[in-house]
Parts: sequence; C-alpha cells; structure tokens
Amino acid sequence: MRTSGNKIRRDGVRVQTRGCHKRPKLLIIYTGGTIGMMENPETGALEPFNFEHLLENVPKIRLLDLEIESVEFENPIDSSSMNPRHWQEIARVIEDNYAVYDGFVVLHGTDTMAYTASALSFMLENLDKPVIITGSQLPIGDVRTDGEENLITALQVAGATCRDGRPRVREVAILFEDFLLRGNRSTKHSSYNFAAFSSNNYPPLAEIGMAIQFNTDHHCLSNPKEPFRVNYGIDTNVMYIDLFPGIQEGVVRHLFATPGIKGIVMKTFGSGNGPSDPWFIRTLEEAVAKGIVVVNISQCTNGTVMPELYSAGLGISKTGVVSGRDMTSEAAITKLMHLFGCNLSYDEVVKEMNRSICGEMTVDNPHDASRHEESDLELLQPNPGLPGQNQDLNPEITSPESTTLSPNQ
Ligand code: ASP
Repeated sequence: MRTSGNKIRRDGVRVQTRGCHKRPKLLIIYTGGTIGMMENPETGALEPFNFEHLLENVPKIRLLDLEIESVEFENPIDSSSMNPRHWQEIARVIEDNYAVYDGFVVLHGTDTMAYTASALSFMLENLDKPVIITGSQLPIGDVRTDGEENLITALQVAGATCRDGRPRVREVAILFEDFLLRGNRSTKHSSYNFAAFSSNNYPPLAEIGMAIQFNTDHHCLSNPKEPFRVNYGIDTNVMYIDLFPGIQEGVVRHLFATPGIKGIVMKTFGSGNGPSDPWFIRTLEEAVAKGIVVVNISQCTNGTVMPELYSAGLGISKTGVVSGRDMTSEAAITKLMHLFGCNLSYDEVVKEMNRSICGEMTVDNPHDASRHEESDLELLQPNPGLPGQNQDLNPEITSPESTTLSPNQ
C-alpha cells in the first residue's frame, strides 16, 4: 500500500456550510475492482486502473461536505485475487489511521466483497467507526455506471453522525445500490444486476432512496469498552464441502482427509440435512474425533439450520457437527479462519462458533432477524438543491418525526 497523495481538493466548490462544524474526515482505501477498471484496448477485457482515474470520473465528490483522503493498493486488483494478506493490509491501514479519521470507505471488487467484509468484521475488534465497503457492476467511466452513486452514498453514510456526534454506523458494512447491509450478513447474489448484494437473514442497516433511512433497531450499537485493535491472525486451513444427491463416499472421505485441514464448512440441504447413509455419518464422526471443526450451513440463502427438525439433520448434529445457524457461507468460512488464526483449541473454536461475535448470526430467535420497525427509522435527508448551487451536501440526520419528504422539496 502507498499513500496516493490524492487529497481531495475542496477549493471553491462547496460554498455554504451550516454553521461552524467540524467536517467528518474519511479515508478511502482503493483496492481495485470494476469500479476503477478500464477496458484494455488490445484484449477488450476490463483491467484495474489507478485511483486518479476513478476520481476524475466523479467530480461531484468535491461537493460533499467531507474531508476526504485516500490510499490505494500499489497494484489495484480484481477481487478474485483477494486473499487474507490483502485483508491484513486493509486492516493495517485502518489501524494506522484509526485515530485520525472518522470513517473508512473501502473500494473493492464485488466478487469477493462479502468475504472481505466478513473477515474484516472479525479482525477489527472493538470497532466504533464506520468501515463501508462498496464497488460497482459497471466501471466508473461508463455512462451508465452505478459506481458514482455507490461511492457518493458510501461516503455520505461513512460521514453520517448521530446527534451526539458519534458515527451513525459503527461496524463493517456493504453499501450497494439500494441498501447498506451488515458486512458479515451479505452475499453477492447477482453478477448482472446493479442490486448485486443481499442480506437474506438480517434486515438492511439502511435503505437508500431519496433519503438514507437508517434502521437504528438493527445496528450493532456496540459501545466497546476496550480500545480498538486489529486481530491479524488468519489460518486458511479450512474449506467448503457442498453436498449434492449422489455425492460419493470416496470423494467425501478424500476431502475430509485433506492434510492439515482444521475446519470444514459443510453446505447441507434445506434446514441442515444430509444423507443418512451410514458411511456419511461415520465419516463425520471420524472427522470430529480427529479434531476437525465441521460447521453445518444450509445451501439455502434464506433461513437457518435447524438440525433437530428432520432425522436427516439430527443424524448430522449427533456426530458433533456444529450448527452454523443462519450464517452466510462467507461469514462461516472467514470466522473459522479467524478463530484458528487466534490459535484456539478445538473446544474453544466450537464454543465461539456457537456464539455471535459481531452480529454474524442469530443465536436466539431466528425470527427476530426479520423484524423491521418503521418507527425506528431515521432519515438522512437528500439535499434539496442541485449540485453547484451553493447548497450543503453534507448528510444531515433528522429525527424520525421530521422525515416527511416530497420529491419536489
Ligand atoms: N471481477 C470484479 C472484481 O471482483 C467484479 C467487480 O468488481 O464487480 O474485482
């Protein structure tokens, strides 16, 4: 990583402020992804480009009432090449700059964004500032790009504060198209639509429309007692096993015998069911006896694992396989990486897998997750004027009572 020196110049663009206030100071961390890509004229393929290129295409960024600085990966990457070392680099930048900035916006490719968001949520301990990850489906230079809107909104969300001056969002979140989603609850579900991410087992942290509606009921609202710290430990001796009807004993046994493997996220059918063949149950028992942590995650993207519902699930849970409840597969695999990276024992990892570390799974009542109370919405009002007309583009939080918006305001 290097500092890009891309301090956003604010001279003469924003004219009016509402009183003498301190502007939120944000750091953009540009890692690559479609948002900054350009077409290679020789191959026609999209390739990551530098941050200056990205900024040239979003002049509106200068209108925000925010102080923005940036750092970038020396070689921006397609997020398909993202690996835990990159997560550590991102975390390092956040740690090094934590005291100086009010929030962080990470620009990232969409392909592995949910993995990065999940991993960072575990690594950034006692976080009480926003880490908003965004990207786009079309490059920022494309006339129909979704990148400009995503970037601007991500910055506004990261700069949004409560009345007491604290950041509105104090967790790792993904901002994409219409929603701000808890990072470790998010999944990329579309390689085509602008609305590419969903959080099927947890309500959005905010809905993006004419206003930004924060759903305060579903924020972590953590008040960490300990100071912020980064836990860099990651152990990649983990893997997925995806069940399908007809999966062969030899294949399953081979996978479970992978040298060095410590944790397996097993994607099962429906509410956590699998074949009741004796070889399958025996293989699981042997794996657990060897000290491999096996986590049961459903192939369904909505709902939770309830192994006691069918005997096909009960058989699995009796082997000592841990229920991953309603976790996304991205959260489950990165949680295992994180826990093994902390050098925990088998029993300790199992214990932690059964508890929600930072909102990644619903532990008590899964139905709570879909609760969404209108009365708890708080709005970030859209700016009534047009850019460049002396108006303040600073996001302003209003109380729920003053949320009436008309398109012609
Ligand atoms: N392959 C790209 C990436 O993940 C896709 C994107 O950014 O949307 O970097």
